[in-house]
Amino acid sequence: MRLPETHSGVTPGDAIQVINDALVRKSGGADAKSSIRRLCHAALKETGQRKPPFKISPLLRLAGVDWSYEDRRRGNKDAAIVLSDGGLRLAISTDSFPREGVSRRWRFTVAHEFAHVVLIRAVGARVVDLANSSKKAYQYVERLCDYGASQILVPRANLRKALRERNFSQKSILDLADLFDVSFTALMWGLADLLPQGGLLLLREYRRSAQESRELRVWSSYTRYSSGLEEPWLPKGCTMKHIRVGERPLGFSHLEVRDGLPIKVVLGKRARQLEAAMVDWKSRGRTASFLNERRLGYIQGGEDGLLLACAAPGKLDLELFGGNQCNSTFLERCKDQTI
Ligand SMILES: [Zn+2]
Repeated sequence: MRLPETHSGVTPGDAIQVINDALVRKSGGADAKSSIRRLCHAALKETGQRKPPFKISPLLRLAGVDWSYEDRRRGNKDAAIVLSDGGLRLAISTDSFPREGVSRRWRFTVAHEFAHVVLIRAVGARVVDLANSSKKAYQYVERLCDYGASQILVPRANLRKALRERNFSQKSILDLADLFDVSFTALMWGLADLLPQGGLLLLREYRRSAQESRELRVWSSYTRYSSGLEEPWLPKGCTMKHIRVGERPLGFSHLEVRDGLPIKVVLGKRARQLEAAMVDWKSRGRTASFLNERRLGYIQGGEDGLLLACAAPGKLDLELFGGNQCNSTFLERCKDQTI
């Protein structure tokens, strides 16, 4: 079936294909994602930056892009690349960012806009029309630029090296977010890329209503750029009925497993075999309060949780994610558990 034509005369599929082909031609990458990654890394290299935290203003200077602050948000956006006098300019909203470069969100937003510049340089100004030709093409370009931003701020080779120098633990993950000067979420998206056909799952003991039992449930999952993205992943609130170790639900006692733990993720009729490494996770902030419960619509449980790094069986890099970190409190607790 032929897709309906858009106002610019190209189908969403055509627009995506044109962008993809131009990127591949320009960079020699295998696809659009690897192309944008190559181009962003090449730009980083040109600025002479080798170690985190990676700064974005040298990249903008290198690309000859000036930036200025504007009072209003542009088309509801925090920042936007504007074509002016035949050149490119970055307009940053003072509503969203009253002070320059002080937040991690600023860094991600500006890195995302820089990725748009990379795209314009590689595909030509027509990429703007192509992106605006349909919702699908627009989302494709946005996702590509998010990926470019992630690669600028958290180049995976640097992340791999930094993780290898540490243990996979809650502390090291928070340290890595500081080292790369990115948000916790941005760091997790980067880490998920080191897990082939997998991602990260944060589990916490909580319940979402008074009717629910307080038990280990999925709090969030991170698979944004990894190939696990299209796979059935577990929605927030799923209990360990959906994550099995053999016939048993996954539990804190499995922290004792030092090697990759074979798990089965079950959602409806679909099931995936994965290999997991896990560490204990103590929640910080957002502790239970009456207001929180009302506003967020759930009743917060205890502070205990687990962070699971999962990959396809045999693909979990134990040099990075191995050596599960148990703390003594958990081991004490595990002795009393019968799960
Ligand atoms: Zn964008």
